Amino acid sequence: MKIKIGSIIYTLKEYTIEDDKDGTHVSEIDLMENVIGIEPGLPESQKHQAILHESLHAMNWKMDENTVDFLAHAFYSYLVDNKELIKKMLKSETK
Ligand SMILES: [Zn+2]
Repeated sequence: MKIKIGSIIYTLKEYTIEDDKDGTHVSEIDLMENVIGIEPGLPESQKHQAILHESLHAMNWKMDENTVDFLAHAFYSYLVDNKELIKKMLKSETK
């Protein structure tokens, strides 16, 4: 799957995340190769939050980890809790 963030197209891939020292890393982003990697076998909601998390890194790679984590969780909940609003927003998009 492709994910467009700003002017860059990232490839979403599922593979085992190697950099998992504390057992909490389920995703990573390679800003040189434009790849977002997600650990296989995650529950859908966790997978989607991880994609949002890595997308936020792509949007602003200077943002610190705590801020990215907070925004990913907050924004995911916002999307899930406001489906009607999101549908309306997407419907009014002309492109
Ligand atoms: Zn991160």
